[in-house]
Amino acid sequence: MVDIAVIPGDGIGKEIIPQACDLVTSIDPSVNFTFYNISSERYINEGITIKDSEIDELKSYNSIFFGAIGDFRVKPGIMEQGVILRLRKELDLYMNIRPAISFSRITGNNIHMTILRENKEDFYSDISGSLNEHKLFRQKGNFYNYNIDINSESDDTIYYTMGFLSRKNLKRFFNMAYKIADTETVTITDKANAVDMYSLWREIAIEESEPAGKKINFEYADSLAYNMINNPLKYRYIIAPNLYGDILSDMSSAMVGGLGYAPSGNIGDYSSMFEPVHGSAPDIAGKNIANPVASILSCIMMLKHLNQTETAGIMEKSVENVIRNGTIPIESGGNAGTHEFINKVKNYCTMTK
Ligand code: ATP
Ligand code: MG
Repeated sequence: MVDIAVIPGDGIGKEIIPQACDLVTSIDPSVNFTFYNISSERYINEGITIKDSEIDELKSYNSIFFGAIGDFRVKPGIMEQGVILRLRKELDLYMNIRPAISFSRITGNNIHMTILRENKEDFYSDISGSLNEHKLFRQKGNFYNYNIDINSESDDTIYYTMGFLSRKNLKRFFNMAYKIADTETVTITDKANAVDMYSLWREIAIEESEPAGKKINFEYADSLAYNMINNPLKYRYIIAPNLYGDILSDMSSAMVGGLGYAPSGNIGDYSSMFEPVHGSAPDIAGKNIANPVASILSCIMMLKHLNQTETAGIMEKSVENVIRNGTIPIESGGNAGTHEFINKVKNYCTMTK
């Protein structure tokens, strides 16, 4: 039995996710979805981001299907750090898979790239604080490239967040990345020319590539961003540190039609969580105009991860057919609303089943 926890969350997440679950159960009624109300709405009413007991329960599912969290009434960072980043950490989801695959009817091209993003370390760090500039001078010798916080009491105070990478985590990350990549050659990005710690990133990338039989092309993140736009068909797998991976994957989603087409999966050794790359999109929430493709594709990735390949295959073919036959989401200039699009996919699924 497949047991999936569902966190629809806020905004368009709350709108799309339950419909995507319906779509799955219309094909395979044995998939069991359990809904959790972990949302900004609840935080506003009850002051709870996520309960420890919920974290424990979520660990017991085969997978989690996550919508989006975000609400302008809540201070930025509270829900992101309190829910999303906490789940990634507590469930030890060290791999983030972000495919950008175009539907040629939408984009007129055949981009097919997947960003494999390290999901726990780098600059997404709790290690931050403030220091007196002179102390740091003493520690580092030559530190001149700092920002002064405008709110600080003294001009000598600097604020920092420390990026970090660990050998242990990078080993398992590259190991999994090379297993996911089904090509011999992969692109690996960083800024090893500017940030010291990426020399460890490179070292382990090379170390782990040998037993995996992979060839590596290193490309600095800035030059990669330029080349991804100019020559997107050149890329198939891009392995990136956390922060650059986040930025490059928003960019790659734009190249395949927009955030509404970008799915993602967070994978660990024990748990997994699948979610669209987009957020709660409050500007379009509740209007039945959000593109549900990213959520449906995330759901397909999740079913494949859980070895539900038949259901995943039916859904995948149906989405392709629906778009090929001219049902175009509003995001791409068509007139298919959220519900209409999902319904069309459901009809195709029923026909193919
Ligand atoms: P959050 O704080 O939850 O991340 P956000 O304001 O950053 O929310 P995103 O969801 O990240 O919003 O998306 C940015 C913009 O992209 C949205 O405001 C919306 O206009 C557009 N967008 C995102 N997802 C979709 C979608 N599925 N369909 C159509 N447009 C979308
Ligand atoms: Mg956002």
